[in-house]
This record gives sequence, structure tokens and C-alpha cells, in this order.
Amino acid sequence: MSSLLNRDRPPVFCPGCSHDLVVRALDRALVAMGKQGTEVAIVTDIGCSGLFDTFFNSHAMHGLHGRALTYATGLKMARPELTVITIMGDGGMGIGGAHFLSSCRRNLDITLLVLNNFNYGMTGGQCSVTTSPVASTASGFLNELEPSLDICKVASAAGSPWVDRVMATGKKLPEQIRDAVQYQGFSLVDIWGVCPGRYSKRNRVTLKGLEEEMAALPPVSGAVQENERDEYADLYRRKSSRLSLPSGPVDIEPIYSSAFTGQKDILLLGAAGQRVNTAGELLCLAAMSAGLHVSQKNDYPITVLRGHSISEVVLSSSPVLYTGTGHPDVVFALAREGVTRRRSVFEKLKPENLVIRGKGVEVPEHEGKTITIDFKKLRIPSMHWALISLAVLAEEKSLITEKMLRAGLAFRFSGNSLEEAESLLNHFFSRKNSYRTSHS
Ligand code: SF4
Repeated sequence: MSSLLNRDRPPVFCPGCSHDLVVRALDRALVAMGKQGTEVAIVTDIGCSGLFDTFFNSHAMHGLHGRALTYATGLKMARPELTVITIMGDGGMGIGGAHFLSSCRRNLDITLLVLNNFNYGMTGGQCSVTTSPVASTASGFLNELEPSLDICKVASAAGSPWVDRVMATGKKLPEQIRDAVQYQGFSLVDIWGVCPGRYSKRNRVTLKGLEEEMAALPPVSGAVQENERDEYADLYRRKSSRLSLPSGPVDIEPIYSSAFTGQKDILLLGAAGQRVNTAGELLCLAAMSAGLHVSQKNDYPITVLRGHSISEVVLSSSPVLYTGTGHPDVVFALAREGVTRRRSVFEKLKPENLVIRGKGVEVPEHEGKTITIDFKKLRIPSMHWALISLAVLAEEKSLITEKMLRAGLAFRFSGNSLEEAESLLNHFFSRKNSYRTSHS
């Protein structure tokens, strides 16, 4: 195998920069593994390390500072056959700290090489998460306020199954990179080096000094036994293969025609548990069964079985370009919670507008017509008030018909749910005169 280095763009770093050594070590590792450029993706973000993807004849991704691991994750999930190597500086690793922790915890088969030179080199020598508190940096005293981070310690604690640390000058660097890449899971190599351009000279940091400092740390050397487990993508594919694909949106072919032209806005005001949103959907489906255009917008709080539940529906003979319903033509007033939330719409109602109201639900004064239904006397549970109100609307024969409503039910429900809904409608249409308490 020959080198994957891009001869048209040789690395250019400041004299003495350790990054140069890592470029060559990575190339040797890839050659040793027999990798073709088409089998490898190098993912980088901002910083001097962010130039790495341009030095190789391979696939490459380059993006926002600290986010390289997120791109690498998506890439590996979509293209599992690729060898994905992420290269970040200690600056990007700190900026993308949450992504670093997630990658360690997730255990997707990608390799992260952190080119750790203890500062933000490219931007002028500011302090990073690994800068010593006693160093002199372009950030003034800021590094004195926070202890430096041990990348390997954090990675192990976060669940990384492969953690290694090595000097950029380490004789075994190519082998250590190769072993990390060949590991079937997330692997991290913390590669220490010097940044003569911005940091090392200023702080009299030498390679020998760094070596001594590294030797004094607890050793790390690859596999972290207690973190070894199934690789993420493998596990994901095994588990997801047991699931069936979600069905796409329902395709509604019109089966009736509607003489209705123009647009009507319907506002359903109720409370949680009254199936208001389902009724809004049924209204849409009923209208679609006659070829009308519809939109539905729901409004409910974060709570379950408490608070308002509102559905705004627009029915139109032409495409709906705006889904707002500021001046509704029909209002269902089914619970205090919903009415309280939209009190202001009642003062806009005109004589030709309609309010279908449950008896006992107080509504503000308005100029529209009102149909009041005594649901309680009819022993209809609150969860069915919205559906019966749709039947009342169908009986008005202005927007939807009974047939359209029944078609909506058949689109939306099946089995017992459909039987229950149809039986409620049968009961309503067989005794419809007894439903209406008053019409004003
Ligand atoms: S600024 Fe530092 S890291 Fe960047 S090329 Fe120069 S020496 Fe290397």
C-alpha cells in the first residue's frame, strides 16, 4: 500500500509544531492497515488540527468548532463501512465537551485523535480545558481560575472502552493510532505535543518536560475493561431490525363532492380528555372525503388530563395558505378551560356565525346563533361531546354532511374504536331532535 498523503497539499505548520508528526504517524497507521482513501473519512473542525482532512487523499468533512464528533457520528451511522477518524484539538474537544461525553458513552465505532497542545493555537494562544493553571496565555489570568482537565480520565469515567495517551514524538504513535482505529467501538487517543507558535516557547514547555509529566500520570494503554460492551451501531441495527417501518401519511381519495366554496374556520374549545384534537382531525378527514383542503392547529398545555384543549380547523375549497383562525365561523364551546383561553373570539362573532355549546358551559355574550346541547341529561360522557358536536354540525348541512362525517370516522378508526364511534353517531342521528336543547 502507498501513502494516502495528498502530495498537492503538504502540511504546513509553524517550525517545530508536533502536528506534523501526527500527520505522518496517521498516514503510516493507515498504510499499515492497508486502507484505501475511499475507505477512510477524516472529520475535523476548527483549529490547526482542522487542516488535517486536507492533507489526505480520503473522504473529508470539516465543520463548526467542537462539533466534529457529531458529523462523525452521523457519517458512521449512515456509512458503517467507512473507517471514520475524527481529529480535534484540545480547544475543540473542550468546546464540544457534551459531544465528547456522548461519544464515550455511546460507543460508536469511530476514533478520536485529540491533538493536545494545551492551548488554542490557531486563534492566538488562548487557554483551553487542558491548559495548566500556572501557564501564561493570551487569556490573561483566566486559566488560573480553573484546574486543567485530564482527557483520558474523563473519557474513562464517561464510558469510553478504548483510552490511550501518547506523545506526538512517541515511537509507537503509528501503532497506537492503528490499534485505536482497529478497535470495534469508540476509541480515544490523547496525543500530547508542543505548539511553539503560540504556547510552548512562551511557557518554556519542552517535549522532554511533557514526557516526564505524562510518565507521572496513572498509565492508560488502550482497552478499558470495565467499559467494554456492544458497539452502538451494531446494537442499534439489531434492535431496529425487529421494528416495522412507520406507515406514511394517509392518502385520502375524495369519495363525495361538496358544493361548498370559499373558506370556513372552526374553533373547537374544550378541555383535556374530551378528544377535542381527535374531533378536529375527524372534521378534517370528513372534509377531505369531499375533496376540500384543510388545516388543523392544536393548542394544549404540557399537562395530561388537565387544562385546555383547543383545535383550530380551516376548511377551504382552495389550498389553505394561512392556518390562523382569528375570526371563526363556527365555535364549539365544550369546556370552561377552552372558552376562557379564547374569550376574545366571541366578541368578533357575527349573526351568521354558529356556537355549538354544551349546557352549563358559560360563554361570553356574542351575536352568533347558539345551539345548546344538554350532554349530561343525555348521559353522554364528556369524552364524546366533541364527536357529537360534529354530528350536530353535520345536521346543519352547511359544511359537512353525515356521510362525510362517517367517511372521516372510517379513515381515522378501525375495529372497536370505529364501532363505538359509529354507534354514537347512529344514536345521535336516530334521536337527533332530542339532542338539541335550545337554538337561539
Ligand atoms: S499555532 Fe501552534 S498548533 Fe498551530 S501550527 Fe503553529 S505551532 Fe502548530
